[in-house]
Amino acid sequence: MQDEAQDPRRSVPRTDTLLADPALRAAAVRLGDTLVKQAVVTAQQRCRAGEIAPGQVLDEALAGLPARATALRRVLNATGVVVHTNLGRAPLSAAAVEALEVAAGATDVELDLASGRRGRRGRSAMAALAAAVPAAGGVHVVNNGAAALALAACALTEAGHGPRPEVVIARGELVEIGDGFRIPELLESAGARLREVGTTNRVRLDDYRAAVTERTAFVLKVHPSNFLVEGFTSSVGVAELTGLVGPEGPVPVVADIGSGLLTPHPRLPDEPSASAALGAGAALVTASGDKLLGGPQCGLLLGRADLVETLRRHPFARALRVDKLTLAALEATLAGPPPPVARALTATRGELCARAERIRDLLDGHVEARVVDSEAAVGGGGAPGVTLPSAAVALAAELAGPLRTDPELPVVGRVERGVLLLDLAAVAAEDDDALVAAVRRAAETAG
Ligand SMILES: *Cc1c(COP(=O)(O)O)cnc(C)c1O
Repeated sequence: MQDEAQDPRRSVPRTDTLLADPALRAAAVRLGDTLVKQAVVTAQQRCRAGEIAPGQVLDEALAGLPARATALRRVLNATGVVVHTNLGRAPLSAAAVEALEVAAGATDVELDLASGRRGRRGRSAMAALAAAVPAAGGVHVVNNGAAALALAACALTEAGHGPRPEVVIARGELVEIGDGFRIPELLESAGARLREVGTTNRVRLDDYRAAVTERTAFVLKVHPSNFLVEGFTSSVGVAELTGLVGPEGPVPVVADIGSGLLTPHPRLPDEPSASAALGAGAALVTASGDKLLGGPQCGLLLGRADLVETLRRHPFARALRVDKLTLAALEATLAGPPPPVARALTATRGELCARAERIRDLLDGHVEARVVDSEAAVGGGGAPGVTLPSAAVALAAELAGPLRTDPELPVVGRVERGVLLLDLAAVAAEDDDALVAAVRRAAETAG
């Protein structure tokens, strides 16, 4: 048994005494009571364990306060993967971030201020989307690309009487999109029945023709956005598919283009775009908003006005509805200056190399660094097999850990053949100086 006077629990400052401290009270206004209390409790525990003296508890609690009320950290993406799934896909433009701030409070997202009456939700974002894709008769936005596809599958295969209508899809397009999620399972979970045609590597128009019956709801064309099939292959494009006629007339073609390119991109010749798919006769296009479009996470539905209206008014649509923040960021992405993804796609190796040389020069005398040519990738967001000419700052591989865990600004690069490459393709030029500072800190940590 310990003597009470020596019991460390006796000398640990009390919680209410600590919470009454002006600095901690100010922190509670900004961060909330829970996070402040957590920091206090952690400091008290360290004191109880004999790791710090009672007189240090307050300072320890203050030092342990989080910077803000989210544990999410801003990270510099120096991986050379422009749309990086684990880093949150597309970074938003400054204009989109500003729009988020406006939308965060009470906003006229669903109110017409002139008349004082209810207005169509997100009408200015929808107008921006419609203006960006003139070929679309109707536009709608849902939570993500998968939601867009699920809504189409659910709403367009609704059974009148008899068996549920089918979705015709090529076996080579039964894609797994990531994290174990698969397009065919997504479609089936939305109630659709699949009619698979062709083989893994080849499908012909005749295969589709033979599969189209009075039970066909639509033909689905899925872009294999994260892999390439090479060699003895064949597939059927949207233009050919739109010629398919069933017993009840032309069969609608739904194109899941994945990446969200609205118009063809010169650097990505094989990547489908919404305008091209609609121009080729697709009745409906589904796509993500946070891949090559460079906007917030959302799913785009573009196409025939009657189909889009059917989807928009379907009960399931309410469960996939986007919030005001998404609408605001999407509108600013479409109407504002090119977002970071678009800028990354057009950067030349010369520009990136000049930036890498400047970074190397700023590190000179602090950290050993070289400038090397690099090959960046678009990423899980699309354009498999395409490399983007880039430049990187090459550092000792030992810096990878300290850079990634930098307390101020984590930097994620990629280690290749024992060298850490900080690829500049996905780093905004405005962040170059912050990158230099982070590398200097990491070098100090690494000793
Ligand atoms: C990414 C992708 C999806 C899923 O979109 P999310 O926005 O991730 O839900 C669906 N289809 C294709 C072809 C894709 O590339």
